[in-house]
Amino acid sequence: MGELTTDIKYLKGVGPKRAELLTRELGIETIGDLISLYPFRYIDRSSIQTIASISQDVASIQIRGKVVSRTLYGPSSSIVKTDSDKIHFNAAKRLSVIVEDDTGRMEMVFFKGIRWNYERLQPGQTFIFFGKPSEFNGRFNIVHPEVDEPQEGNMSQGVLTGVYPSTEKLKNAGITGKVMCKLQSAALSLCLPEITETLPDYILGDLALCSRQYAIKNIHFPADAYALQKATRRLKFEELFLLQLSLLKQKYIRSRSENGILMPKVGPDFNACFEALPYQLTGAQQRVIKEIRADLMSGRQMNRLLQGDVGSGKTLVAVLSCLLATGNGYQTCIMAPTEVLAQQHYANIQKYLSPTSIRCALLTGSSTVKERREIHAGLEDGSIGLIVGTHALLEDNVIFKNLGLAVIDEQHRFGVDQRAKLWGKGPEIDSSGGRQAPHVLVMTATPIPRTLAMTVYGDLDVSVIDEMPPGRKPVRTTLHTPAKMPAVYNFMRSEIAKGRQVFVVYPMIFENEKLDLSNLEQGYEDIMKEFPLPQYKTAMVHGQQTSEVKNFNMDAFASGRANILVSTTVIEVGVDVPNASVMVIMSAERFGLSQLHQLRGRVGRGAADSHCILIRDYKTSKESLQRLELMCRTENGFEIAEEDMKMRGPGDLEGTMQSGLPISLNIASLAKDGIILGEARAYAQKILEADPSLSDPRNERLAFELRREKYKVRDYSKIS
Ligand code: ADP
Ligand code: MG
Repeated sequence: MGELTTDIKYLKGVGPKRAELLTRELGIETIGDLISLYPFRYIDRSSIQTIASISQDVASIQIRGKVVSRTLYGPSSSIVKTDSDKIHFNAAKRLSVIVEDDTGRMEMVFFKGIRWNYERLQPGQTFIFFGKPSEFNGRFNIVHPEVDEPQEGNMSQGVLTGVYPSTEKLKNAGITGKVMCKLQSAALSLCLPEITETLPDYILGDLALCSRQYAIKNIHFPADAYALQKATRRLKFEELFLLQLSLLKQKYIRSRSENGILMPKVGPDFNACFEALPYQLTGAQQRVIKEIRADLMSGRQMNRLLQGDVGSGKTLVAVLSCLLATGNGYQTCIMAPTEVLAQQHYANIQKYLSPTSIRCALLTGSSTVKERREIHAGLEDGSIGLIVGTHALLEDNVIFKNLGLAVIDEQHRFGVDQRAKLWGKGPEIDSSGGRQAPHVLVMTATPIPRTLAMTVYGDLDVSVIDEMPPGRKPVRTTLHTPAKMPAVYNFMRSEIAKGRQVFVVYPMIFENEKLDLSNLEQGYEDIMKEFPLPQYKTAMVHGQQTSEVKNFNMDAFASGRANILVSTTVIEVGVDVPNASVMVIMSAERFGLSQLHQLRGRVGRGAADSHCILIRDYKTSKESLQRLELMCRTENGFEIAEEDMKMRGPGDLEGTMQSGLPISLNIASLAKDGIILGEARAYAQKILEADPSLSDPRNERLAFELRREKYKVRDYSKIS
């Protein structure tokens, strides 16, 4: 026993050197870690192709070939001399092995392990070669093929062989796919008896899941395709189920605790604001406000995520929520990720608040010392009812008298620690300085696919505004190559002649800011040539400008002084210029779909017909084209987010949300396993309803699993 936790270096075939590499490259420290490294795909090794049948567009081929000749090449393809028996391996840079089958010949190329392969691949002998073919000078070759002896009875017992994640360094150190299979086989024969069941028998029976032991064995060495399918389903379910169970358990615990600030009243300010609105709330806005009001009256702390497309009217919902809190004598804050956004919020919010008696203030990095002093005082004595601001709100010297509700806009732009700071700013509840947590409403215009929301925000309540205010016109989206630019310029001129404004956006890829910046600057010059002063004015905004320069340029556009804004994605979030009717996006294929959707949301906010013009590079991959065509087809943010996740995997979305997943998934994929996730969540819910603390002996295994580090998920209720 105890093999699972044994240091990987003691596994047969590993040793200290390989162990170090396995740890560094794949995070494998113990034999158990190795077993948790599952294949990411499987190859059917039962089929052997002929050399004549090779074509370039296959991912891998397997041929049975006899070695014809071996040649060692030195630098610049000089042939390394082989005198009588002395071979100068040190001078060799490349080994070329010609192999043949009944249909033809091809080359196998090795840059590493030259001596070993040279000695092993003796002319006249037959081997199985496996790898990705590439075409070179009209002939096919395989660089670093996997080489197997053709005898029966080698590693792959079944016909399906797992392919494991690997790295260049591992391969160079001789940990090839075949070696990895050998290590897994050794690890399994040592540990299989130790692999215990994690799910209660009644669940296994209920859902017809295979045992954990069967699953682990067959995920590595599937007996057949059916066994692999059973193993995969079992392991994916387990992973998603335990995660949901842990998230939902937290939610249950919180929903039972009664420490939320109680806000039963509506108050005159809410009504004053509401009655002065020049329009009706949309059905979705009404529903969400009801949900929030119910939270505020529940005696439990609210932790609600409000999702809604750009322009769906989240700000108004935020303001009305704040007025519910102020109506009960509490202070509120609305925090935005950038100064420009905070200013814009402030301007809009002041309009909403004008019929009320609420004192509102703006605190940002550029507030003057004098302004700060007044604001700090107003927050401490409680006279400021609603403060709008940036990160500046989080500073230690910003002390509220009694913060009752914190609204965080575009929450993914805030780090976890920053959000945690808000937590300590609630009302004091005891003389020792203990504070009661404010209610928290986080808003996002990045529609998060349902499966991801279930996981990332599994313990939050989610409200969705899925209805646009009336009068918003659809944005016409079209896709072109740069050949169309002259026509695009003409179109821009005609729109500007009508008094409209135009965004021109360039991609920013963070690996190479200098290059991106020069793209942008080149683009700016192009635009300046096409749209010369004094007839046209063009402003430029990018992430490397100081905030004064950025604000100045942004303001030039927002106020209508500039006709064109050339920028990177810094305008992505929130900025509201209703007069802008055209959005031109350059190298559109380099943006994520969700990002394009955000950008497109910048136009179509006014009365005019709006246009989004996507310019793609000539060389755009098929997948990118499909993504861009989807943009032209739909304006539904959720549909786009789902597609984006399917096409790119959730990784990028996590990136854009920064908060990431509460745990990392080993086998399940949020993009592909939505159905299993739904099942897992429903099942977890059912179990917790009957046994919220998992104290029923039947659920003993579950309670045990949730104590594992892996499922100790971050508590979002405490940080967001
Ligand atoms: P979001 O923050 O969700 O992007 P905003 O709150 O900025 O959206 O609202 C976008 C625009 O729609 C604003 O000009 C706002 O005044 C307007 N608006 C909000 N709610 C309604 C409504 N129910 N009817 C008409 N217009 C509305
Ligand atoms: Mg907004």
